[in-house]
Amino acid sequence: MPNPVTLSKYSIGVGDRFAREANAQLRACVLAQNGGVDVTPVWNKSNREHTIIGSEPSSTRAAADAAVRQLGWQNEYYVDADHINLKTVDRFLEPCDFFTIDVADLIDQPAEERDIQAFVDRHPELSGKLSMPGIDALFQSSREMVGRIARRYLSAVGEAGSIYRYIQREKGTGAFIPEVSMDETSSPQTPLELLIILAAIADEKIPIQTIAPKFTGRFNKGVDYEGNLKAFAKEFSDDVAVLAFAIDRYGLPKNLKLSVHSGSDKFAIYQPMRTVLQKFDAGVHLKTAGTTWLEELIGLAEAGGEGLRIAKEIYTEAYAHREELCAPYASVIDVDPANLPSPEDVKAWSSEQFVSALRHDPANPEYNSNVRQLLHVGFKIAAKMGQRYLNLLSEMRETVARNVTENLFQRHIKPLFIGA
Ligand SMILES: [Zn+2]
Repeated sequence: MPNPVTLSKYSIGVGDRFAREANAQLRACVLAQNGGVDVTPVWNKSNREHTIIGSEPSSTRAAADAAVRQLGWQNEYYVDADHINLKTVDRFLEPCDFFTIDVADLIDQPAEERDIQAFVDRHPELSGKLSMPGIDALFQSSREMVGRIARRYLSAVGEAGSIYRYIQREKGTGAFIPEVSMDETSSPQTPLELLIILAAIADEKIPIQTIAPKFTGRFNKGVDYEGNLKAFAKEFSDDVAVLAFAIDRYGLPKNLKLSVHSGSDKFAIYQPMRTVLQKFDAGVHLKTAGTTWLEELIGLAEAGGEGLRIAKEIYTEAYAHREELCAPYASVIDVDPANLPSPEDVKAWSSEQFVSALRHDPANPEYNSNVRQLLHVGFKIAAKMGQRYLNLLSEMRETVARNVTENLFQRHIKPLFIGA
């Protein structure tokens, strides 16, 4: 078997609604490299986004390859089939070499009783007192608890195994990076649950390199983390310890690391995450997506003229359709309609006012997280504008690209991977 593709310690998932910013995104990784830190870019776009935009996964690959050529990028890079399942994976097989296998929908689908019993019997090490380096308090567990947790997750992991083997047949062993995601669900997974999930994943022989649990707190799209920071830091630390333990105990890939979804703009947790990563000498995959589309809008507004006009027009439309735009994202946004400025007010805004309201600078009193979240889900409106929107992106390339690069590098890569 040739050497399997192996994701490096630090990687960043960059999303691009309209496949126009790969170059500007890659520049942020070049800046990191110049600062002495390797951050691998992974272009991710979910089936859901492709469907809304009307794009094909091959366009993500083409944009990534072009950017890599233009900038002479010599390091690794990947294209992620984000949140796929057996029904949606096919059109991603050819262009992608990273697969986020989403089995969150199968959590709580009870597994067969004899499979649960077999799992509990196979894993006596999971019952009783569990101690592992880096975790202060011992895990207290019992056969009954392991059985209960296995009942919740074994079906989901079994499905992940089926999807993995399907991709493996099509692409070949070691030819892609498998991630398993369980983040799009209502309740977070505890570190003990994560350990049991990893034991089950090892039983399924999925050589996962990244795993995306649901963490405690709210990971709203495009805005900062909301929740108990201390609880998050403890959970993140225990999760990293659990991964290190599972790699050893179950022979999972040595580079296995956490993947943090909706990871863009979570400024409050980057420092605590960094502290944990340094303590364990661990890596992480930070998945960002919609933040780039908002930087496009900021760039257009900043450029003024026709750019500012279209940004206002997108706001006006998003405001008019706010309920239908927000509905599918109810669990990952918090928009208070009472705090949205009226389109009439926005029409009178200068470039600076528009940019101040939208740019994620919590220190700016003009910043409005409601405007930001509404526009975050408003990319459908730009998608409908089609060529008119894309032409403006080309005309105002310099301002747009500067904002995209700066945002990824200064506000994401630097605090998490390099240190402020
Ligand atoms: Zn996700």
